[in-house]
Formats: sequence, structure tokens, C-alpha cells
Amino acid sequence: LTRDVLQSVMVQPTPSPSSTSTPDPVANLKRKQPSTSSLNTRFGSFPHPSLLVPAGSQVRSASGTGFIHILRPTPELWTLSLPHRTQVVYTPDSSYILHRLRVRPGSRIIEAGAGSGSFTHASARAVYNGIHENPVTQSVPTEQTDGVTKGGDEGTNTTSDSVPSDGSTQIPATLTDSQGRVLSFEFHADRASILRHELRQHGLHQIVTVTNRDVCASGFSLPEPELEIGGNTYATAVFLDLPAPWLAIPHLTRENGSLSQTKAVRICCFSPCLEQALRTIAVLREQDWVEEDLVEVAHKRLEVRRMGPNGREIGAKSRSQGDDEIKVASVEDSVSKLKKQLWHRKAKQARQRERLAKRRKLDEDGNEEVQDDDSDVDMDANDDEDVEEAPETAEEEGGNGRLHLFNQGRVLVRTEPELKTHTSYLVFAVLPLPWTEEDEIAAKAKYTLPP
Ligand code: SAM
Repeated sequence: LTRDVLQSVMVQPTPSPSSTSTPDPVANLKRKQPSTSSLNTRFGSFPHPSLLVPAGSQVRSASGTGFIHILRPTPELWTLSLPHRTQVVYTPDSSYILHRLRVRPGSRIIEAGAGSGSFTHASARAVYNGIHENPVTQSVPTEQTDGVTKGGDEGTNTTSDSVPSDGSTQIPATLTDSQGRVLSFEFHADRASILRHELRQHGLHQIVTVTNRDVCASGFSLPEPELEIGGNTYATAVFLDLPAPWLAIPHLTRENGSLSQTKAVRICCFSPCLEQALRTIAVLREQDWVEEDLVEVAHKRLEVRRMGPNGREIGAKSRSQGDDEIKVASVEDSVSKLKKQLWHRKAKQARQRERLAKRRKLDEDGNEEVQDDDSDVDMDANDDEDVEEAPETAEEEGGNGRLHLFNQGRVLVRTEPELKTHTSYLVFAVLPLPWTEEDEIAAKAKYTLPP
């Protein structure tokens, strides 16, 4: 789904034009929705109302000539279509990061800054542990947004937006500790506010807590007792996508309740340059994090095709025919072409034999002026112009009727021209549980062999 479709499907109707200048970024966001009423693609035009059908449906274009399938929104689709307010983390990075942070259903992850919410959506799905299968439909708490949208630094994730009427699932308000949570921090008030709005539209607002906060100055505790976790985040995973993560790292401690008291904690810091990554590693070491690891994800898709005997790619777009259709040579076409080439080659050999015989005869007759029959040679050359060098054919190989794979063309490998990821360095580290005197005694008692 493209952005305008996602938004037209999920966004509430545009408010009346009477209130034009409002400082509320969410109201402005609604006002900016595209006015087009159709999605125009090369498969045809699709009026937006025709797209309001269950996920998985096929929708025919207005003219009936093309069709599209309606997909359920996923974090990957959202990353590709979200309105960019900042640079975003793309799927090749976010999937790797969540895997390395061992984020799983039920995990509690701290994220700062939230930016455009790309990583937020990916992590919301990763921590989510199946409440969608048994949704509790309820009205969402309503609250004024003043402290949030007008630069207050302690906003919570509740807003006055109404619940989407498109059937998106409501998550129960009373999540227990094991039900997974994304604790997201963003110091730009408007970005925090817009992200809350989007999360509510996507039915994720009770999995993600967006807090408007400068984490470098004020740390990661939640502004007010949040549901059942009493202001503590107790995270087991941390993702920092900040300009200066080394300023935020000292705020991540078990003592102040931001990190889990009972489990090892994993961190990833996303930095665009090596100097920043090294500075981050230095501070992590000072703060007792271990197993520092620096990674760059170089995601590359390889496009593999075969090159035909005429030097053109098999399956390449046919420009001469002026269409977009992908032409792939059929086996029948290839065999008939090979037969034609063989026929030309045999005809040429026959002409050469004939010419040699003629020359020999003239020699025997004592004729000294032997002229090469140039016209014949030229004719051969002309014949060859349209005929490529024929590869070995099935008949020449003993006529078993099979063509070897290598006769189907040379393998050609191209790399994807445009990568949907922006290169950054990922610093990973682990904060292990402290090893106490009691642990030492217990371990000795358990593992020491009797004398
Ligand atoms: N990871 C995000 C995504 O996938 O969409 C993009 C994050 S963006 C590159 C960085 C964000 O960090 C910006 O939105 C910025 O406002 C926020 N930020 C910068 N310094 C911050 C701080 N000290 N505390 C909280 N957020 C901060």
C-alpha cells in the first residue's frame, strides 16, 4: 500500500476548513492528507472507497483491466510508506538489531529517539505476545494533550484522538509485566505527539509508551506511575538512535529502575560515524557494559539472470517493443532458433565444399587463373550477419534431444542499484547481572566435587 492509501484508510476525516491556523501538529497532519480520491497505478485507477475491504481482498481497477491485492499493514510496509520527519531505521537494520537484542514477545525495550516511529513499529510487533487473538474492545481513555503538544517535557501516551473505526484491534489497558512494552522517548514535542497519534490509529498505543523527554538530561524513568510498572521501565533491551548516545548511557542503571533487576540487558547504539561509535564504546566500558561489538549491516540484494546467446539479457525489458512486459525466451523458441542456426551453418559448409570442388576442377583442367568466387563469400558474410554463432546443439551432442543448462545463457549477477537503508554503525553491548558473594558461594556449593 502506498502512503496515501494507508493514510486514507487509517486517518480520520479531515476537519472542517474553518480552523485553519492551529498549532496542534496532529490537526495539521490530518489537514495535510492528500485530496486525491483515487490511487493511480500502472495497473489502473482505484477509487479509495473501493479499497476499504478486508485484508487479502483483490480489488479491480475502475476500468476493470487491472487489479491489486489489499495487504494488512505491517511494520515493513509502514517503514516504506511512513511520513518522514527524520531519518529512519530500515528493515534490514531493525530486524538485525531486534534479533541481537533478543527482543521477543513479552520483552520490555527502551527506545530513544523515536523520530518517525519506524523502529517503534518494528519493536512493537516484536514485543507483542498475542493479545490480538483475543482483543478486548473498550473505549480509549481521553485526556487533554496540552502538556504534550505544547512543549511540555513529561507527556504520556494518551491523546484525545478517537479510536479508528476501521476495525483495528484495541489492546487491553491493563497489560501485565509479561505482556511486552516499548518505552519510547523523543525530545521533539511535535514528533512525540504525531507518533502517539499514529500508534493509536494502528492499534499499538497500549504496547508503546511515548514520552516527550530529553533522555540525555533527564534519563529514562517514566513521568508518572505508568500502569502497573510504577514509573520504572525495567527494560531488558535498549536501542539508542541519538546524536550523542554517550550522554544517555550513564542514565541506564538497575539502581534507578530503568533496567531489569533480574536479567542481563542488551543495548544497541546506532551512530553514523566511527568516531561516535568509539566514543559510545568508551562510555559503555566505563559503565560496566561488556562484550562490545561493532557491526555495519551491508544489506545487498543480488539479481541473477541469464545472458542469451545474442548477448542480451534473457528476461530484460523489451525496449524496442515499447512495453514493460518481461520477455523470457521459451524452450520452443530457443530450439527453433538453434535449428535455424544449424541450417545456416550446414548451408554455408555446403557452399564452401562446392567452391572447393570447383577450384579443384579448374586446377585439374590446367586453368591457372583461379578466381575466388567473392560473391559467394560475400553472400556467406551477409547470411551470417543475422545469425549468431550457434552453440553446440542437441543434435551435435548425439541427438539425445536435451539442451544443457549452459546453452540457456551465461549467468549474469547484478546488485540492487538503490539500497533502502542508510549506513550506520551499530554498537552492541551487554550488561550482565552482577555476580555477588552469595552467587559465588552457591555456585561453589553446587559445582564443587566432594573430596
Ligand atoms: N529511530 C527513528 C526511526 O526509526 O524513525 C529515527 C530517530 S531520529 C534519527 C533521532 C531522533 O532522536 C530525533 O527525532 C530527535 O528529535 C531525537 N533526539 C535527539 N536527541 C534526543 C534526546 N536527547 N532525547 C530524546 N530524543 C532525542
